Amino acid sequence: MTSGVTRVSTDSVAHVTTEATCPLCAIVLSLDDEKPRTGTVRWELLPGFRFSVGKAVSFECPNGHTSVHDPDILKAFHSRRF
Ligand SMILES: [Zn+2]
Repeated sequence: MTSGVTRVSTDSVAHVTTEATCPLCAIVLSLDDEKPRTGTVRWELLPGFRFSVGKAVSFECPNGHTSVHDPDILKAFHSRRF
């Protein structure tokens, strides 16, 4: 048996998703509104020296806010390390 380490091709772009509070819900929902405000950010990972740098490429929240309808939403998610 050999240890099957699969190297992911560096040509393909890696993606990860994280959860984040929706910036639009934070504005439009009142504080006592109990709707969930946590959406999903999808990050495109750009390989760096010791870490990857993620760039937000899409966002979607359970209340219908998406980067498809409002691309400016992605400005709320700054590039970060992964
Ligand atoms: Zn929202």
